[in-house]
Amino acid sequence: MNYVVDFSEGSKEQVDLLGGKGANLAEMTKLNLPVPTGFTITTEACLDYLKKKEHMSNELYEEIKLHISSMEERTKKRFGDITNPLLVSVRSGSKFSMPGMMDTILNLGLNDETVIGLMKKTGDGRFAYDCYRRLLQMFGDVVCGIDKNRFEDQLDFYKSKKNYVADTEMQVEDWQELVAVYKNIFLEVTHQPFPQDPYEQLAFAVEAVFRSWNNPRAITYRRLHDISELLGTAVNIQEMVFGNFGSESGTGVAFTRNPATGEKGIFGEFLLNAQGEDVVAGIRTPQAISELEVLMPDVYQEFLKVSHLLENHYKDMQDIEFTIENRKLYLLQTRNGKRTAKSAFKICIQLVEEGIISKKEAIQRINPTMVTQLLHPVFEPEQLAHAEIFAKGLPASPGAASGKIYFTAEQAKKASEQGEKVILIRQETSPEDIEGMVVSEAIVTSRGGMTSHAAVVARGMGVCCVAGCEEIYVDEFLEQAKAGDVVIHQGDTISVDGTTGTIYRGSIPYVEGDEWQLLETITEWAKEEAAISVKANAETPADIKTALRLGADGIGLARTEHMFFGEERIFEMRKMILAEDEKSLLAPLNKLKEFQKVDFLTMFTLLKDKSCTIRLLDPPLHEFLPKTEEEIIHLANATKRTVAEIHHRIEELHEQNPMLGHRGCRLAVTTPQIYEMQVAAIIESAIDVSRNESDITIVPEIMIPLIGSQEEMSWLRERLVQTIQTIFDTEGQIVPYKIGTMLEIPRACLTAEKIAEVADFFSFGTNDLTQLTYGFSRDDSVKFIGAYQNKQLLKADPFQHIDEEGVGMLMRIAVDKIRAFDPTIKIGVCGEVGGDPQSIRFLKKIGVDYISCSPYRIPAAILTIAKEK
Ligand code: PEP
Ligand code: MG
Repeated sequence: MNYVVDFSEGSKEQVDLLGGKGANLAEMTKLNLPVPTGFTITTEACLDYLKKKEHMSNELYEEIKLHISSMEERTKKRFGDITNPLLVSVRSGSKFSMPGMMDTILNLGLNDETVIGLMKKTGDGRFAYDCYRRLLQMFGDVVCGIDKNRFEDQLDFYKSKKNYVADTEMQVEDWQELVAVYKNIFLEVTHQPFPQDPYEQLAFAVEAVFRSWNNPRAITYRRLHDISELLGTAVNIQEMVFGNFGSESGTGVAFTRNPATGEKGIFGEFLLNAQGEDVVAGIRTPQAISELEVLMPDVYQEFLKVSHLLENHYKDMQDIEFTIENRKLYLLQTRNGKRTAKSAFKICIQLVEEGIISKKEAIQRINPTMVTQLLHPVFEPEQLAHAEIFAKGLPASPGAASGKIYFTAEQAKKASEQGEKVILIRQETSPEDIEGMVVSEAIVTSRGGMTSHAAVVARGMGVCCVAGCEEIYVDEFLEQAKAGDVVIHQGDTISVDGTTGTIYRGSIPYVEGDEWQLLETITEWAKEEAAISVKANAETPADIKTALRLGADGIGLARTEHMFFGEERIFEMRKMILAEDEKSLLAPLNKLKEFQKVDFLTMFTLLKDKSCTIRLLDPPLHEFLPKTEEEIIHLANATKRTVAEIHHRIEELHEQNPMLGHRGCRLAVTTPQIYEMQVAAIIESAIDVSRNESDITIVPEIMIPLIGSQEEMSWLRERLVQTIQTIFDTEGQIVPYKIGTMLEIPRACLTAEKIAEVADFFSFGTNDLTQLTYGFSRDDSVKFIGAYQNKQLLKADPFQHIDEEGVGMLMRIAVDKIRAFDPTIKIGVCGEVGGDPQSIRFLKKIGVDYISCSPYRIPAAILTIAKEK
């Protein structure tokens, strides 16, 4: 006898058992807030039901009946009573909110007799029969799977027959007629009359809500949001209160702070004379909550008080569902509100400043995907000035996107599978559209408010969305949308600005988001908590500046080859590659050295005393060679060679497996002059900086790629040290420096203690290490990794998420060996997985000192490390 918990018995901690909604209804009841009485059937009951795949147990049925009796006592109403009927809502509610994915039934308990009781009691027959037809419709849909449109079509047909425009024109006789029509639909489809016994209704409804845990849209939503299949849903049975009870009633949803921008203050919407799901479903466009202050000031004040209390109690922004019945406020739900990344950051910062939560708590509340969302693009302002506005709507979820329009989720999905950037445009979205929404760059709806399905889901996914764009007439059948005189068709390109709610025709270029200040504050707090530091993979001044702003502790990998691709530089590089003897090598090398010196000087000046790891040339030389005939002719002319000679040299340099060939330190073994030039440029720049900028103490870390043995490392190190010593002698000045290596060859990991004798530091190059451990080509494995994943031969792409078992084992071995030789040697990671939150946990566990990743991944990496503490 423990499958049902009364609201007065539960608490907010019991989310596993009562689901989010049930636990919070119980908590609000405990706080003496105006919550309609009720009880929760637990998730365990749901799981038990789903496992047995038959009707609910007698025990559960009896328990429910007992709790109904207790509700009857409290409400002084009776379930099924023909004069004073108790009516209930039956709502799903799992541990994690899954907006609109599962089912709800309202007005349960109405039948041919109780509807008369309700009419007499309220003195409002229109209201009573409207409630009854809603029950028929919801019950038909949820319990018996009757298409909602069958009912809606009949209502539309009836209204047009009577020349009515709005539902409010329907009179009691009209609703009565419609109820008869609905009951016939019911009979026709199910071959059974609509059940008149309220307990029978209740049992069917509870079972249907249990089953809705496994409906396809709920399954898709769970897969997308990583929610376990094993949780089940609770079912909340609650006394009905009526927002559709005339003009002094209404229903709404409000947030205690703005879920899109984070701004302080109540933000929400309500609909007068409407019931339950109308606001969330986005069928009618609601009024702003501020208007309630004018219409019902006393209710508004009470709502303000309650929302303040709830926010302080939960120490977070709340999303509150409420109903007003005859000017009396009722709370139907509260939960921590879903919000955009910008809003999440802003609210966390506000709550810390208001002394409600600590910095540590704030960090725990921000997750790495929010960081990514914060860096969302915005349209280029100058371009925007010339863009043609198509329509304006509500700025439901920020961001900027251009793409081709599609009018159904299915078409959007199909087009996206063919590689198109798509924008889903609909009258309103419903949970069935989820698969189309996921693949869309932006979502546009002509109906629905800021809390409509489209708005809530898009915000959650960080997808840009404009909702309630009523000036657009969306014709999903003809696949066109019209605003004013302008008509756009399927496949046309539009641009959507989710931050301002504007929709433009054509495509518009965008720039990155400008919410960095919020990010900077949180990153700064996270850095105080982070146990290992995060550096950047960057070499251009722009990237270095970005990286520093985003919290980088220095440069962990400057790939110097990226410095050789400028027009002048690649030309010198090519000349150097073509050189047949030492003499002809000298001129281009000297030129390249000058270029490099400029680069390093800029780098050191930007970094000041932050660390700087510079990797010497790594890729195979063929990457620098001319590809087109035009380039070949140009190079031949400039080097006074024939075109044939150039072709011949290119052929000579061709390799079967360039990634396994003449690259990295192997280039330096055959042509040491290249590394010597680079090292000279680094050291001379460091000397220049130390002479001219007394406040900068730079200790360049020179990193040699692709080392596989102690012999290679020691031979190269000796030559480089000699080069450096010569510079010190010539310049009459010394600067500190380090020479280290990457760990990207399995052999290097297995012999790391020996290499450690001649290396000052290490950095794992997990890209190459993964390539060589798996034997999967970095460039070609995309062709088969998907198939491996589909066939479950690989859990994840090892180039994105560290392969803990294999590559990770080599890393553990290497770390242990190096630490055994000298525990103070610094070890980092600079492959792609260094910026992957999923991998960072593992990297931290094996004991690396820092990770290095691309600039935009830095804040998420810092946050991940701080949260792991
Ligand atoms: C690596 O191999 O992980 C690495 C960082 O070097 P690159 O990607 O430049 O080969
Ligand atoms: Mg590498």
